[in-house]
Amino acid sequence: MPNTQLVDPFGRRITYLRLSVTDRCDFRCTYCMSEDMVFAPRAQILSLEELYAVADAFIGLGVRRIRITGGEPLVRNNLLGLLQRLGQRPELEDLAITSNGSQLAELAPQLRAAGVKRLNISLDSLQRERFAAFTRRDRLDQVLAGIEAARAAGFAKIKLNCVVQKGRNDDEVLDLVEFAMARGLDISFIEEMPLGSISSHQRQDTFCSSDEVRARIEQRHTLVRSSKRTGGPSRYWQVAGSETLIGFIAPHSHNFCGDCNRVRVTAEGKLVLCLGHEHALDLRALMRRHPGDRQRLRDALVAALQLKPERHHFQTDAQVQVLRFMSMTGG
Ligand code: SAM
Ligand code: SF4
Repeated sequence: MPNTQLVDPFGRRITYLRLSVTDRCDFRCTYCMSEDMVFAPRAQILSLEELYAVADAFIGLGVRRIRITGGEPLVRNNLLGLLQRLGQRPELEDLAITSNGSQLAELAPQLRAAGVKRLNISLDSLQRERFAAFTRRDRLDQVLAGIEAARAAGFAKIKLNCVVQKGRNDDEVLDLVEFAMARGLDISFIEEMPLGSISSHQRQDTFCSSDEVRARIEQRHTLVRSSKRTGGPSRYWQVAGSETLIGFIAPHSHNFCGDCNRVRVTAEGKLVLCLGHEHALDLRALMRRHPGDRQRLRDALVAALQLKPERHHFQTDAQVQVLRFMSMTGG
């Protein structure tokens, strides 16, 4: 009997795939990229057909949620065609995108029509100069217009993602919560992870724990623990008297590996079993050596799962622990 499920040696069933469709981006966020990033040559990036083949293999093995990410996924040419194909797969309970919001003013209605259900939009500051310092691009207005367009397009859920850094935007946490509440959005606050070598700051100097962020919010709001999970690592709290959920992604201060149900595929087709490890299987090489061989691809995924590590070991005092940038792996 061929194996039809993805289960790792610790009994965790994989139902969630994060699929990166490009390593390129129109922003250069300081915690994510260096200003002079060198991107992979196009021939090394999975074609749209290969991306679909990977998604199809995972769906065949029980994956029910796919998040499209990058780099900035919306700068990938002809992404809509891929989304339309995935949007028609009845097995998928959720098709979501993580975006920096820069293209949403134009693309939000088309994404919704293609079958995208949920959007995560990154927003680290509501202040123009700070936003420009975070992203190295003066595009706050463009992103705010993108958020409005996404609201108008009728997605099931929109969540903001905010990386919090001490001395840079930790004093804006309450403003960002008010912004989300006023618009019926959820918001997750993220601890910076040591992915990729960056020159703009020493990560340990700006580290701000999720517990500190939550304490700030609780100065003004009552937070009630929510049992809601969205397939990712966020733990949620409900703002009392509001629809807004607040998530905390805390790889440092609260290890989230125990119930990990996800794997990632990079834009170059590397299957990454854990964000905190270098283990990766080259799906691109396999697909290009055996084009159209769906069974071989599935068998390789099932076998690879046996290597999924039990947990990551990120530490705040290390500048870089994993050489891959988040933009390569897909956030
Ligand atoms: N470009 C899209 C965006 O910014 O939303 C999608 C890709 S981005 C890599 C996905 C998420 O990863 C973003 O919310 C970003 O803030 C987060 N991110 C990037 N580098 C990070 C790091 N070193 N630590 C924590 N989060 C990071
Ligand atoms: Fe681009 Fe997203 Fe990385 Fe910022 S976090 S540089 S928007 S990929």
